[in-house]
Amino acid sequence: MTVETLIVPNIQTLPSHLVNQIAAGEVVERPASVVKELVENSLDAAASSITIEVEAGGTRLIRVTDDGTGIEAGELAVAISRHATSKIRNLDDLEKIASLGFRGEALPSIASVSRLTLASHHRNAKHAWKITAREDESPVPDAAPPGTVIEVCELFYNVPARKKFLRTEQTEYKHIESLFKTLALSHPRVAFKLIHNQKVIYQLRSAVSALEHQQRLAMLCGKSFAESLIEVEVETEGHRLSGWLALPTFNRSQADMQYFFVNQRVIRDKTISHAVRQAYQDVMFHGRHPAFVLSLDMDPRQLDVNVHPQKREVRFRNSRFIHDFIYRSLKQGLAEVQPEQQVNSPAFAFNESSSSLSHQTGMGFNQYASYSTSKTNIREKTAAYTSLIQTSYDIPADPETDAQIPPLGYALAQLKGIYILAENTQGLIVVDMHAAHERIVYERMKQNAKQEAVIRQPLLVPISLNVSQAEADLVEEQQPLFEHLGFNVERLGVEQLRVRAIPALLKNADSEQLVRDVLADLAEFGQSQRIQEYENEVLSTMACHASVRANRLLSIDEMNALLRDIEQTERSGQCNHGRPTWKQLSLDALDKFFKRGQ
Ligand code: ADP
Ligand code: MG
Repeated sequence: MTVETLIVPNIQTLPSHLVNQIAAGEVVERPASVVKELVENSLDAAASSITIEVEAGGTRLIRVTDDGTGIEAGELAVAISRHATSKIRNLDDLEKIASLGFRGEALPSIASVSRLTLASHHRNAKHAWKITAREDESPVPDAAPPGTVIEVCELFYNVPARKKFLRTEQTEYKHIESLFKTLALSHPRVAFKLIHNQKVIYQLRSAVSALEHQQRLAMLCGKSFAESLIEVEVETEGHRLSGWLALPTFNRSQADMQYFFVNQRVIRDKTISHAVRQAYQDVMFHGRHPAFVLSLDMDPRQLDVNVHPQKREVRFRNSRFIHDFIYRSLKQGLAEVQPEQQVNSPAFAFNESSSSLSHQTGMGFNQYASYSTSKTNIREKTAAYTSLIQTSYDIPADPETDAQIPPLGYALAQLKGIYILAENTQGLIVVDMHAAHERIVYERMKQNAKQEAVIRQPLLVPISLNVSQAEADLVEEQQPLFEHLGFNVERLGVEQLRVRAIPALLKNADSEQLVRDVLADLAEFGQSQRIQEYENEVLSTMACHASVRANRLLSIDEMNALLRDIEQTERSGQCNHGRPTWKQLSLDALDKFFKRGQ
C-alpha cells in the first residue's frame, strides 16, 4: 500500500439527518428520555397543567399535552430544526440559564429517530397549527386548544440497533414512572397526569399549601414517608434550601427515595450526596439510606448547567460553600427533632420514633436521678418545665393541665426489665430503656469531647507515607488543622509524609488510611469530618457499653429522669445505631384496636 492511497482526502460533512441521529444517541437513550425532554419543554413554556400519555412503555406512543404559551405557526418548523432555541441568544444568556432546556437539540434529535408531530395553539393565535416532522410540508390548521401537543410514535423504528437495547415494555414504563415522580416533585405547582395504556396512573392537582404538598408527597413517595416529615427551610447568602427529610427512623435499603433539585432541575451531584450522607452520619443505621425531597435555589450565574448532554449534572462555582451549607442545614434540622414533634406527628401515632443518648463515660442509672436537674442543655426549657424536673416524678395528685405534662409524660411501670411504660397526654409511651440511655450517654460524651482538648497519642514507630505532591502541599498548608484534629504530620519530601502522632481516641484505627482519607476529603471538599466520624464511632461503642442494660430494675424516679433526658437530648428519636428509642401508642389507636365507640 502506498502512502498516497492512505491520505486520499475522505473527510466529509455528514448529512444533517445523520447528525441529528448521532445527537439522539446522547439525548434519547430510551422512551423515558423523550418524556423528560418534552415535559421540560412544557415546563419552560410555563404550563400549569401537563398530561403525559404513553402506550407500550412509551415505545409505541408518547404524547405530551400542555397549556403553556404555545408556538406560533411560522416557528413550528424552526422548533424541530437543529440548534434552534428560544431560550438563549448569546453567551451571556448561557451563563445564567433559568430554563430547563437551552441546547436546541431535543426536538430534532427525537424527530430523527421516531415519527413526530407537533401541534400548537399559540396564546395569541385564533387556532392551532400542526406540523409533521420529515415531511417538509407546511403547517396545517388543527383543532387543539391553547398550548402544545407533541406526539412521538414508534421510537427507534428507523434505528434497529437502538431498538434492540430497549428492555421490556414494563421496564421502560417503570423508567417513565420514576421520571414522572421526579418531575412532579420538582414542580409542585404544576398539575400532572400520567396515563399508561389508556389507564390513568397518577392525577396530581397543583400543590400550593403545605397540606397539598404533603398530599403530593404521599401520592408519589407513599403515605408513611409523608407522615414522617421534617420540614427544611434555610436561607443564606442568596442560597435557599427547602423541602422535606423523612425522620431517620423512616429509612431505605437503597438510595431510591432521594430527590435533590437545583433551580428545579433534577441532578446528580457528588458534593451534594456527600454533604447529605455526612449530615445523617450520626442518626442513620449502618448501611441504610435516608429519604428526602430537597430543593436548592440559587443564582444561576453561580452554576454551570452546560456540562451534560441530558443536563443531569451541574457544576457549582463554589462547591465548598454548597457542601457546607447543605451539611449544616440538614444536620441542624435532624438534631432539632424533638419528642413534642414526634408525638404530634401522625407518623408516630403508630409508627416508631427513637432517641439517642449522649453521655459521660460510666454514667449509669444510679447517677441518673441526681444529675437530671443539672444538665447542660441544648434546648430552652420553659419555667413550668424546669419546676417539673425539680419536683418528684410521681404523677401529681393534683392533676396538671395538659399543657404542663411533659411530651413523654410520666412513668407508670417497667416491663420485663426492658421497656418503660409511661402515660402522656396522647396515651401510652413505650421506651426501650437501653436504646434511649445509650443515645443520652453518647450525646453527652460528644459534648464533653468537644469541650476538651484533643489528646494525642504518639506512635511508637512513626509512619512514612507516600502521597501526591498536591497532598503533601495540603499537609503543609493545613498544619493548624491537623494539629487541631490531634495529628502530628510533617512533610518529609516532595511526595512523602511522616505521621508521628494521632488522636488518642483513635489509637486502634488504621492511621495510614485515616490520614489518606482526611487528605482526600480536604482536597475534594475543603473540610473533613472523618476524624469526627471515627471518634463518634468509638464514643458510640463506649456509650453502648456504658449504658444501662436490659433487665435492670429502675425506680419510678429513675424512669422519669430518663424520660426528661430523652426530651432534652438531641437526636433523641433514635439510638446510636439508628433504631427507634420510643414509640407512642395514642388513645385513638388503642380505642380503634379495641373497637371502642364503634
Ligand atoms: P430547547 O428546549 O433546548 O430550546 P428543544 O429542541 O427542546 O430545544 O425545543 C426547541 C424550541 O421549541 C424551544 O426553544 C421552544 O421555543 C419550542 N418548544 C418546544 N416545546 C414547546 C412547548 N411544549 N411549548 C412551547 N414551545 C415549545
Ligand atoms: Mg428542550
